[in-house]
Amino acid sequence: MAGIMNDNEIKPSTNFIRTIIDDDLKTNKYQGRVHTRFPPEPNGYLHIGHAKSICLNFGIALDYNGKCNLRFDDTNPVKEEDEYVNSIIEDVRWLGFDWGPMVLYASDYFEQMYEYAVQLIKKGKAYVDDLTADEIREYRGTLKMPGKESPYRDRSMEDNLDLFEKMRSGEFPDGSRVLRAKIDMKSGNLNMRDPVMYRILHSTHHRTGDKWCIYPMYDWAHGLEDSIEGITHSICTLEFEDHRPLYDWYLDELDIYHPQQIEFARLNLNYTVMSKRKLLQLVKEKHVSGWDDPRMPTISGMRRRGYTPEAIREFADRVGVAKANSTADIALLEHCLREDLNKRAKRVMAVLKPIKVIITNYPEDKVEELEAENNPEDASAGTRKIYFSREIYIEEDDFREDAPSKYFRLAPGKEVRLKHAYYITCEKVIKDDKTGEIIELHCSYDPKSKGGWTDDGRKVKGTLHWVSVQHAVKAEVRLYEHLFVKEFPEDNPDGTTFIEQINPESLIILKDCMVEPGLKTAKLGDRYQFLRNGYFCLDPDSIEDKLVFNRTTSLRDSWAKIEKKLES
Ligand code: ATP
Ligand code: MG
Repeated sequence: MAGIMNDNEIKPSTNFIRTIIDDDLKTNKYQGRVHTRFPPEPNGYLHIGHAKSICLNFGIALDYNGKCNLRFDDTNPVKEEDEYVNSIIEDVRWLGFDWGPMVLYASDYFEQMYEYAVQLIKKGKAYVDDLTADEIREYRGTLKMPGKESPYRDRSMEDNLDLFEKMRSGEFPDGSRVLRAKIDMKSGNLNMRDPVMYRILHSTHHRTGDKWCIYPMYDWAHGLEDSIEGITHSICTLEFEDHRPLYDWYLDELDIYHPQQIEFARLNLNYTVMSKRKLLQLVKEKHVSGWDDPRMPTISGMRRRGYTPEAIREFADRVGVAKANSTADIALLEHCLREDLNKRAKRVMAVLKPIKVIITNYPEDKVEELEAENNPEDASAGTRKIYFSREIYIEEDDFREDAPSKYFRLAPGKEVRLKHAYYITCEKVIKDDKTGEIIELHCSYDPKSKGGWTDDGRKVKGTLHWVSVQHAVKAEVRLYEHLFVKEFPEDNPDGTTFIEQINPESLIILKDCMVEPGLKTAKLGDRYQFLRNGYFCLDPDSIEDKLVFNRTTSLRDSWAKIEKKLES
């Protein structure tokens, strides 16, 4: 496993892909055009790795005044569904990108692809093979051993045309025949050993229905899709480097418009898994609540968790574009998130684990309206009124009966500041006679400390958040940690699976939280900082009279620490 990337060695102002594009513009290779594409297969929801590719492709199109297509690579009907198509469209749009007038589909080119295959057959460059899948694998050879030619390789062009047409018209069962390119069974590159172009699959396609029963293989289809759309730079991940000769071979043999394939290193992230197959397993086996579970590295999960598109785009930018595989630190992603939320999140008070405080010298029926700023980072965010009264909630964790000397929160005889309100001193701890559990705290307040300040030089170090009991609104709060306990959940020398590395404490639900009344009108997409507790957003599970908030992230910034260490 390659090392963790650090922020110092990345973020070039440009990258090798842009250098290639700049050179192509200089030589006028594509008449000044820059046209990229993002080509997801609709067989799952998009994840943060895809976000990286989306930001790269759409970002280049934006910067060069070019275009970027959103094209579904829907060539395998068995795994593809409309649900995935719709989620992908929503995610790309949410990230802030525009693909022009319409979404494109590889399946719209099936007829054209078929025509191209016929051309290759006529050129003597493709043949129908009757070997079984196992035999084809066996005949292919290995890196050390050359492959063997199929006995069907030298069929006449007429036979091939006839058989291929019959494949299309449904005369043969699944797996009985394939169309293969006739290249070189001794090639050092296994991809060039007569790769399969079409297979028979009697399966209903999410768009073409039962029109087709032969479907093109990825390598055959992909270059054609790029060529048909007039793509200039076809950017893909590193594992396709060895496929580039085949990409080029198909386009050269057909003698059609030829885009350039460029490979870059895929994004890896610690404490998570990213392959769609594994994410699907998490969903199917119900280890998570769905593709949009806020612990998932999917874009929909991150959106539900409270991530902003701006934070994700900033992260994609900061990890940069590399040619060698490495792993980005999830702390950097969270750092980008905090930076963004710090600017936009409205500050409010919410008590997650409430304990009641009675201010014994405060009049029983009195209610005060106090002024509270909404965001110290943003003066335009203004202020709001908050209610203060004789009974309030504070965090259980903000009180200790036997407090150590450096404990600046509330303890018997100690004075603290209530944010935006008054100083209070703890006079008495009321406990349950039987269990000894603390039921409530009796405190006194100093009327001269209104606003949380006095001019007598008194030092009050601790500042607590609170809510007024009679005004508070109950809410459920969901706290999240990394979904996996291990940094690399797939690296298990002990033979365990990634499923066994799931963090049992990745979701903690607090049902009796007390929040400011203003949060009753919170809307999906609103961002809050619950003072001292982190950044939060409303969850779509919220219904009238039952608020549910997700903790997007805590306030602790571990990346800032990592950065400091790197600097010193
Ligand atoms: P997975 O391997 O997670 O199943 P995939 O590569 O099969 O994903 P596609 O739908 O084919 O998923 O991906 C669409 C585009 O996103 C491709 O161009 C692919 O290269 C890119 N992509 C996928 N995963 C990553 C990643 N981790 N980092 C960068 N780009 C990625
Ligand atoms: Mg793929």
